[in-house]
Amino acid sequence: MTRIMTTHSFDGETYKCYECDKILSESQIEEWRCVFCRYRVSIDAPSLSRRIMRKYAHEVTFNNMILMSDTKFYEIYKVEEKKGIFQFNIKGFGKYKQSSDDWVNCLFEDE
Ligand SMILES: [Zn+2]
Repeated sequence: MTRIMTTHSFDGETYKCYECDKILSESQIEEWRCVFCRYRVSIDAPSLSRRIMRKYAHEVTFNNMILMSDTKFYEIYKVEEKKGIFQFNIKGFGKYKQSSDDWVNCLFEDE
């Protein structure tokens, strides 16, 4: 389970792969991708207003919407990296730092 551990998880999370159109158990998820098709897993939870996906900090791009601790989504307008630490510049929020092997909660979208 360490491969999908994150400090930013929510109570009652459920997981779905839209590519397989299948509800996934935790054992069917690796690095927050579906083990069958490698598509990114869509995550839902009672406290979330929208479905999310988890990306490594280094996979996050400037047009992703990041979920912050107030459970609101913010638009990232710039990503900077310094010695393995990623700094996201977030509209209406400011700067947020995360190491490259940490997971980031983003708004779920097809990629
Ligand atoms: Zn799948």
